[in-house]
Amino acid sequence: MKIIDGKLISAAVKERVAKSVEQLKEQGVTVGLAVIIVGEDPASKVYVKNKKKACEALGIISEEYALPENTTQKELLDLIHELNNKKSINGILCQLPLPHHLDEKIIINSISPQKDVDAFHPYNVGRIMIGDYDFVPCTPAGIMEMLAYENIEVEGKRCVVIGRSNIVGKPMGMLLLHKNGTVTVCHSKTKDLKDICLQADILVAAVGRPKFVTQDMVREGAVVIDVGIHRTPNGLCGDVDFENVSKKVSVITPVPGGVGPMTIAMLMQNTLTAAKRQNNIDG
Ligand code: NAP
Repeated sequence: MKIIDGKLISAAVKERVAKSVEQLKEQGVTVGLAVIIVGEDPASKVYVKNKKKACEALGIISEEYALPENTTQKELLDLIHELNNKKSINGILCQLPLPHHLDEKIIINSISPQKDVDAFHPYNVGRIMIGDYDFVPCTPAGIMEMLAYENIEVEGKRCVVIGRSNIVGKPMGMLLLHKNGTVTVCHSKTKDLKDICLQADILVAAVGRPKFVTQDMVREGAVVIDVGIHRTPNGLCGDVDFENVSKKVSVITPVPGGVGPMTIAMLMQNTLTAAKRQNNIDG
């Protein structure tokens, strides 16, 4: 049984990005990311801090816009409009969730698709659907990067994704499909979930329930990717009962140290791609 080391793979991605950022600098092109956070959500604050740190380590310029909880929709839209037009900013990310009085859909739709490094804008979602895309939401992108790094073939495999969120489950299913996997996406109304999971060569758990995937739900020798992150009194755990499932599978990602570190690395990758596209640079 192999435990995939997300820290190691994310470090390799970051190194690759840092090198490209350096090369762009030599051509007089800088790479910049704007991160907007509204309100005081503690988890969001940690995510934003980590994103800023990653930018600094990779030579990407980061601008943080920390707005008060009572920011109006117009104020936020005005800021996004300004950043859409700001030449030194290549990527714009608005940390979710937003306070309830702000309309997430309107805010996401207002970000220029060319700067939408989270890939949440309907334009980019559509491009993922047809398999012609520059940006993919960072978590599924990170999972595909892990599978490639570990030489795990997707073509012809039975892939089961538990969860159909716009951020993880749906794009994950599409990416596996583009790699010629045979994909089933499950959700809370799925019948016979256990039987479906037992058929999976590659099982991705993005359920948002601690230790939801148990040993009796996985096939001997399967590849199991755990997207979940849960804080418990005993530390972090995922959507998979790692201790018992790991005894049965061939490859598994741990929590922490699995999918989590990949997400920020792929955000850096998307920001680099945005800068290249905006400066008509291939690659
Ligand atoms: P989400 O929006 O809450 O979606 C959860 C999905 O799981 C939904 O599609 C839901 O089905 C499905 N589900 C819930 N209970 C189920 C059940 N009993 N049987 C089958 N399906 C069930 O969550 P998310 O944003 O995709 O995130 C999922 C997990 O990943 C969370 O733990 C989150 O914290 C974590 N996460 C981690 C990262 C990372 O970087 N590692 C990034 C993003 C998210 P319905 O659609 O029918 O409700």
